[in-house]
Amino acid sequence: MSSSGGGKASGGGLLEATAQYVDLAAGRIGLEDDLLKVLKQPKRILTVAVPVRMDNGTIQVFRGFRVQHSLVLGPGKGGIRFHPESDVDEVSALAMLMTWKCAVADIPYGGAKGAVVCDPKEMSVGELERLTRRYVSEIGIIIGPEKDIPAPDVNTNSQVMAWILDTFSILNGFTVPSVVTGKPLAVGGSHGRNEATGRGVVYTIEEACPRLDINLAATTCAVQGFGNVGYAVARELQSLGCRVVAVSDSRGGIFSAEGLDPAEVLAHKQQTGSVVNYPDARTISNQELLGVDCDILVPAALENQITADNAPSVKAKLIAEGANGPVTPGADRILEERGITVIPDILANSGGVVVSYFEWVQGLQRFFWSKEEVNRQLRRRMVQSFRSVWDIRETRGVSLRMAAYMLALEKVGTAMKLRGLYP
Ligand code: NAD
Repeated sequence: MSSSGGGKASGGGLLEATAQYVDLAAGRIGLEDDLLKVLKQPKRILTVAVPVRMDNGTIQVFRGFRVQHSLVLGPGKGGIRFHPESDVDEVSALAMLMTWKCAVADIPYGGAKGAVVCDPKEMSVGELERLTRRYVSEIGIIIGPEKDIPAPDVNTNSQVMAWILDTFSILNGFTVPSVVTGKPLAVGGSHGRNEATGRGVVYTIEEACPRLDINLAATTCAVQGFGNVGYAVARELQSLGCRVVAVSDSRGGIFSAEGLDPAEVLAHKQQTGSVVNYPDARTISNQELLGVDCDILVPAALENQITADNAPSVKAKLIAEGANGPVTPGADRILEERGITVIPDILANSGGVVVSYFEWVQGLQRFFWSKEEVNRQLRRRMVQSFRSVWDIRETRGVSLRMAAYMLALEKVGTAMKLRGLYP
């Protein structure tokens, strides 16, 4: 089962980091303490037992979660991951990040996330299908096109989304395509969804470069993680004239000062299982990749990669967070002091959820867009979000991350205040 939503988050670290940024941003915009108290808690946590008949005839019971952090701006939105180390803290942190990401992207969703604690690498396709269907029937009471719309994440893919669509539809007696996004095209998916996150990252880089006096066509970049997001970023940056000097995956990295061709590196990875040992490139470690001589660095693998320990050796002028939470708060402070601009995750990697939103809209309207239309609308939205965040950075003299959090909290806080507290 291939993953389409990325790496494993350490729940505690990510939750603490997000809470720190929320507190700081709330202070800067003068958000009322009463509103902040509500926003720091997930609205709803559903824990479910998921009994599955295994291939050997025994029943194994897995634990699953669906967390809805906030539904103030609309239905919950967020992926489902299958991972042995998932826990409720991790899922809660990721649900909260989704609230801020959707608010920055200006799409009418709240934040949610789900997980089943399991090791999909140890399970057959049949077991995974039964696990997915039973999990969906258990969380079926809180999901739906108007309530909460799951999507792929770590170790879940478009096939899993098709099973979710089918299970939810059977439970309801009619086909409900908009209960889930990231579906295959044949069952109501959207063109452009697979590469949307990577494209979105590059659109924000294109916006940042002229503002930082960087000529993108004359730059070099390094990309950590050569999966769904990392590959799309490398390919798009190359097409804009940027020289891709280093890429890596979980087994290690490769470097070539002359530049790598992402399509050829992908072919090598598909043949051998890794980017390592690609001809005409030097093997480097993942740590070395973060410090290579380049203008643009895109961490697109896992959280907590750039830390207070290695931030002093980063040479790039611009970092775009393809992954969720790849820069720790300690590293963030060091990078800011060193004058390195970071385009934060909740802005840079929102392209995936933006095209998920397009998929939901297309499903509700039963009217489908061309790939060109999807990409045009994606660019329009990414550029708009970038400009809104950049304006706050300029007028308030804060980092792009703080500006993005301020924008998100302002939007969600205003809506909460207007809606009022029930009863
Ligand atoms: P993926 O599984 O397709 O790719 C991840 C890549 O990272 C793989 O190449 C893997 O080998 C590599 N990797 C794993 N550990 C590594 C390490 N220690 N060092 C270097 N590389 C390592 O996942 P993805 O969908 O590309 O997601 C990557 C990141 O982007 C995750 O943090 C995810 O949460 C985030 N993200 C993804 C999407 C999306 O739409 N796919 C949207 C928003 C955010």
